[in-house]
Amino acid sequence: MSRLGSLLLAAQLRWRFDRWSAERLLAHQRDRVRRLVAYLAEHAPYYRERIDPGTPLDEVPKMDKPTMMAHFDAINTAGLRRDDLVAFRTRQEHERTGGFYPGGYSVGLSSGTSGNKVLTVLSPHERDRYSALLWARSGIPRGLRPKRVLFALRAHNEAFMTVTRFGVTLVYVDYLQTPETLLRLINEHRLNVLAGPPSILSILAERRREILGPVDALVSYAEELDAGTRARLEEAFGARVAEIYQGAEGMIGTTCSAGALHLNEDVVLVEVDDVGDAIGHAGSAVVTDLYRTTQPFLRYRLGDLLEIGGRDCPCGSSFRVIRRIHGRADGVLMLPDGRGGTVPLMPDYVRRSINRASQDVDEYQAIQRAPDDLEIRLLLAPDADRPAIEAAIRANLAMWCARAGGVPPAIRFTERPPERNPRSGKLIRVRRTF
Ligand SMILES: [Zn+2]
Repeated sequence: MSRLGSLLLAAQLRWRFDRWSAERLLAHQRDRVRRLVAYLAEHAPYYRERIDPGTPLDEVPKMDKPTMMAHFDAINTAGLRRDDLVAFRTRQEHERTGGFYPGGYSVGLSSGTSGNKVLTVLSPHERDRYSALLWARSGIPRGLRPKRVLFALRAHNEAFMTVTRFGVTLVYVDYLQTPETLLRLINEHRLNVLAGPPSILSILAERRREILGPVDALVSYAEELDAGTRARLEEAFGARVAEIYQGAEGMIGTTCSAGALHLNEDVVLVEVDDVGDAIGHAGSAVVTDLYRTTQPFLRYRLGDLLEIGGRDCPCGSSFRVIRRIHGRADGVLMLPDGRGGTVPLMPDYVRRSINRASQDVDEYQAIQRAPDDLEIRLLLAPDADRPAIEAAIRANLAMWCARAGGVPPAIRFTERPPERNPRSGKLIRVRRTF
């Protein structure tokens, strides 16, 4: 795509976000869905067997990660073969090289948190669209000059590499580099925007004094950002944290000028499945990418628990707001209900129970290994009152468990550090192993 084409596309994406009415947005979604279903019913062998060009969306079978990987060759519309792409990407990672797959396709192979790999493919055109979306809705304040950005990513993905336009400096770095390397890059290039997973931003925050210049904005993605971490980051840098909500499946959410996280509803249609949240309205997200056809994401079960709000954000956008990302569906605690069954407790209530217990919680992780066994790994500031903090966490959890209609599990506090997912490198604060 030409430089002018990219600028126009980014301007269009901003216009939609700022100016579209709810009616305009919903009409756009209906139109895109109709065209997408018709296209896939004709061009994707997998869907040709299952739907007609006129099948309504709510009758299209849902997709999940294992099915996507098992039927990849029949789901994509470009005749690409899963095994060829996996071999290509694995070789690249091994040799630490980049470049596109023949035909100009960019190939990503991210390790899912549950272990199985997720293959993602973008055509050159889709990559241009994605770059423009990332650019138009990065969450970095629009008026900020200069914009020199540290972009910390796990395993370089070609999909991200083309955002080098518009006179902005982007320095990409694999976030498994040492903190010293990150600090050196920040100082050498005088980077004033830091973008990365919250766990990496937290490491930089602890070493704020070693960063010589000002940091004007922070962008967080790839891991859950909880309220406590956000507050610590904003205090350390004196800058606001914007959040991008994205995965291999696309860029789903973006922070607005009022600080809320909106769904990119003109690009991704989000449905929510009921999961029995007795306290709030969290549901399991099912996403349809309205533009991608090389590798379609049609009613794809994301596995993330979202609480979605209305269209009344003070920023004026009619795109719906994500009130809360509750975490992964596999982070839902299963509480005994006292009658031989179990009830779910959303992971965000566990995070809040711990975060709100004290300012002295440095690091934590909750791992439920059986209905009646919850380990809470808790690292505290020096001189913190551990017994009081543990008691406060117990009391908070008991309150949320009661509201969910369940019985609190037996809690074991330990001083072990949180463990990252060995495959994805992500820090999942609340998880369940059974
Ligand atoms: Zn807003």
